[in-house]
Amino acid sequence: MQKKTVCFSKNSSNLFFHILTKCNLSCSHCYINKEQHGENTLDIKTIKNWLRIFAKKNNGEKSIVKAKDKIYNKNLGNLIFLGGEPTLHPDLFLAVKEAKKLGFQSITIDTNGYLFHNILEKITPDEVDFISFSLDGATKKTNDGIRGKGCFDKCVKGIKHAVSKDFATSMIYTVSINNINELLMMPNFLKQLGIKHFFIQVLGIRGKSSKNNKFQVSMEKWLEIVPKIAEKIAQNKITVTYPRVFLKKHEKFECAGLVADNYFIFPNSRVYRCPICEDYPIHSFNIKGNQLIPTKKINENDFFNLKIPQGCVMNKIIQPENFVSNYDEKSDFKIACCLLKEEVSI
Ligand code: SF4
Ligand code: SF4
Repeated sequence: MQKKTVCFSKNSSNLFFHILTKCNLSCSHCYINKEQHGENTLDIKTIKNWLRIFAKKNNGEKSIVKAKDKIYNKNLGNLIFLGGEPTLHPDLFLAVKEAKKLGFQSITIDTNGYLFHNILEKITPDEVDFISFSLDGATKKTNDGIRGKGCFDKCVKGIKHAVSKDFATSMIYTVSINNINELLMMPNFLKQLGIKHFFIQVLGIRGKSSKNNKFQVSMEKWLEIVPKIAEKIAQNKITVTYPRVFLKKHEKFECAGLVADNYFIFPNSRVYRCPICEDYPIHSFNIKGNQLIPTKKINENDFFNLKIPQGCVMNKIIQPENFVSNYDEKSDFKIACCLLKEEVSI
């Protein structure tokens, strides 16, 4: 069994590309905030142009010329297509093909499982690394209570369809007090479904969940259940990734906004470096004229540089009562960067 903290990669970037904010579901913890990120759907020309901005950023103009000649450059970052529900975009398949041509290191589609526009018939397993399905319970009752009636069956059907067509599949499970106990049922369930990678998420403090933090599990419960269940799932040869959330007082704290290369892109052209900042107009960049333009002060970068003993400064500012009630200088724990992950595999 291998357990490792996945340090922030300094050599490649991660691009979380929200190509629209529209969705067919209305999950109780949805992090999309249309007031901040608009309601528009990017057209395929814009998606391609924006992908090229990041391809250029990582490799320089020369590599783009090479990419047009289909010479893949493996130093480009990891790309995740998101929404809303990205498969609602009729041209998602063209965006995937463009990203593949440009040579992104990995390409993932995050989906709620409805797989609109027959997306799996328009792309091949060679063109994407993962189709990642969101499910928040091992039973219909629990999942549909959080994500909406009928979506458990639809998502499971989608997973089976993807596996039957040889796509590598992963699953994202957002933990709350409503479903943490069903994590115990996940080892067999995931094995039966043929899932390759399981991502456990903590209930965020963005969008709707910022108003629902009464559903967040306590630190004690998280530490009691999540690491153990991750090891159990990994025994079935499924890689499990979950956020560290808490650091002991002596452990080193790092802010990904300062040491990593992550971009959270929204269709209204805002680009953030930190997902926790997404409910506020403090993004680092706007995309204008197909260029990444830094925003004026004050923006999220000014917060990344503030050092506090409690760890993540944005957690402290946005929700000081988050996770631990005694979250102060005397606490034995500090809050890790939300992007710091633990990975378990055999
Ligand atoms: S599927 Fe995703 S985007 Fe859609 S409502 Fe649920 S959390 Fe929000
Ligand atoms: S979550 Fe906190 S520590 Fe991580 S990038 Fe954002 S502000 Fe920095």
